[in-house]
Amino acid sequence: MINKDQSIPCPVCQTKIPFDTHQLLTGVQFSCSNCSAAIGLSTESKKLVEETMVKLEDLKTKKVR
Ligand SMILES: [Zn+2]
Repeated sequence: MINKDQSIPCPVCQTKIPFDTHQLLTGVQFSCSNCSAAIGLSTESKKLVEETMVKLEDLKTKKVR
């Protein structure tokens, strides 16, 4: 199962910036098409997202049976 692309509002101008969770996790930064502000994960939130992903995977496995 692949995560659908998501979007996050630009912190500067609120324009929706599409991002891919997996790319974000690999450290890719995404920039706003309107004001070029870059969004990306800090090391701390990266860890948090990774943990969340693991929990999601875990949930998924449990739901299957
Ligand atoms: Zn922007």
